Amino acid sequence: MTYTGWDEGHTRRIKAILLGAAIIITALGASWCIGFILAGKPVLVALHIAMAGSGMLMLWLIARGRLRTTALLAAHILPVFVATFCIFDNVPPGLPRATHLHFLAVAVGCYFVFRQQGFYLKFVIPAVCLAAFLAFGNMSLTIQDSALLIPPQAAEIAVWANSITALCGLVLTVVFMNADLTVRRRMEDEMRRAVVNGEFVLHYQPQVHDDGHVIGAEALVRWNHPEKGHIAPGKFIPLAEETGLIVPIGNWVLRAACHQLALWEGRAESRHLTLAVNVSASQFRQPDFVHNVAEIVRLSGARPSQLKLELTESMFIENIEATVAKMNALRELGIVWSLDDFGTGYSSLSALHHFPLGQIKIDQAFVRDMLTNQSNMVIIEAIISLAAKLGLHVIAEGIETVDQRERLREAGCRAYQGYLFSPPKDIGAFEMFLSRSQPALAAAATNNMASVSG
Ligand code: C2E
Ligand code: CA
Ligand code: CA
Repeated sequence: MTYTGWDEGHTRRIKAILLGAAIIITALGASWCIGFILAGKPVLVALHIAMAGSGMLMLWLIARGRLRTTALLAAHILPVFVATFCIFDNVPPGLPRATHLHFLAVAVGCYFVFRQQGFYLKFVIPAVCLAAFLAFGNMSLTIQDSALLIPPQAAEIAVWANSITALCGLVLTVVFMNADLTVRRRMEDEMRRAVVNGEFVLHYQPQVHDDGHVIGAEALVRWNHPEKGHIAPGKFIPLAEETGLIVPIGNWVLRAACHQLALWEGRAESRHLTLAVNVSASQFRQPDFVHNVAEIVRLSGARPSQLKLELTESMFIENIEATVAKMNALRELGIVWSLDDFGTGYSSLSALHHFPLGQIKIDQAFVRDMLTNQSNMVIIEAIISLAAKLGLHVIAEGIETVDQRERLREAGCRAYQGYLFSPPKDIGAFEMFLSRSQPALAAAATNNMASVSG
């Protein structure tokens, strides 16, 4: 779950919902626990101690900023708790049942909290909760045991307490969902306008060979918002993917990158450069993806062999044949495929040979901890040696220190990208960096130009 989305308020709202749930669970668990101790109901006391304990665990996790863990925990234990209390919900005749109402709040809460997540969290858990709501609301699935029977006054309080807390949970979630939708709709409108007005710009992060030469760059998009200034891709790409706007944005990125490649092609000091472009899953899944890319490259005049398309392992999970076919079609034109963030996804090392890849990018997460975490170093060495066996190039990203680069060099890696060399820069600054790091080539180019004009 990435809580770094288009809307920082989204994270705050998710935190508020989890906090609300944790407080309700703790308060209900603790107060009923006291009540059942006084009433001498040990089974119900034990259940409510477990409930209050879970609420306190959630509060502790929230305080430590571990929202994802809290959300996952809540999504799994809350339905179990509600089901258990429904089973033990020995309501005296004449009183309505109310415990099952909590299933509604859990279902809606799960759907909202995991809205940007996979099928299981977003749909399966809410569906199970709704099915349980219907089942416990319409059938008598309660254990009839006098040891569990609570006095009528307490039962009446329980009905009210359950109805009120379930309603509060539901209202809280719906209010936050609505606030989220409003922000999301505004951002979506702004992004649509940005596509039309051309508010996106590309920054270029150098990719450097072991010998110090710049061998290429990765094109990274930024949104030049008229009021908010530069917005990083992490803040708008997820929403662009959700809304399908990633397709026009991705096409613009490709056109701009190919245009840049064609310009570099015309200059001796930059002719050798490759340019890597990120391709998102929904962009790749478009039926006309291959045709689109081929046309953009053809019209730009860029050399296809200088274009690298970066995709992630998540695209290798479904529909493998169609994925391979698309990749092959562009590979035949000379375009190179690079596997981004390698090691963080699901594909096993041995599955790599199914795909026509030219390069693997070792994910920053491995590089970040490689000097302190021995197993990361072992994984990096395994990736490098496997890539060599499969004839794939390797580039490591996120290199920030000389020690990291040294260790990668010892492991056999020869291409690097990271802040140690340069952050992503606008085109002017990138070309300045290029000419500074390749003085000999730049001097040769200047001489050539002088002799042509002279
Ligand atoms: P990515 O493809 O993994 O790109 C690398 C990210 O790591 C970039 O962040 C880059 O600025 C950052 N980075 C590079 N070197 C270092 C380093 O040494 N240390 C650290 N801490 N970070 C480093 P950025 O530009 O914010 O991009 C974030 C992500 O947004 C990209 O991750 C990529 O997934 C996505 N993205 C960027 N541009 C595009 C695009 O044109 N299309 C699509 N679909 N996604 C894009
Ligand atoms: Ca990338
Ligand atoms: Ca990456």
